[in-house]
Amino acid sequence: MAQRKLDVEKYRELLLQERERLLDQIRRIDDRTAGRDRLESQVSSEDFDEPGGDAASDTLERSQAMAIGENFRDMLAHVDHALDKLEKGTYGQCDACKKPIAKARLDFLPWATMCADCRKRLAG
Ligand SMILES: [Zn+2]
Repeated sequence: MAQRKLDVEKYRELLLQERERLLDQIRRIDDRTAGRDRLESQVSSEDFDEPGGDAASDTLERSQAMAIGENFRDMLAHVDHALDKLEKGTYGQCDACKKPIAKARLDFLPWATMCADCRKRLAG
């Protein structure tokens, strides 16, 4: 199979950097959703008289943090998948149509594992 010469090491570097960043973000969000980071919810002490007021905003903040955490985990799965493809020598190849992913796309999204066409098609 004719393989393009991609600068695999460059992409590996980018992916590992992104992986570190995501793991760091996930750790922070886990701390927050686990209630270890309570500083912000302690700020407005006047609100304590309002029944449920503080708890409600805390729940909202927590569910937002969890939603963001989901996104990061999702991203991490993409990054891991791309790293896996690097190991297997299939990096830069579309998962769906097996055609090469445009280099410009990989430069912009190193964790892309589908070409733009398939991405669009499968996203509906
Ligand atoms: Zn494709």
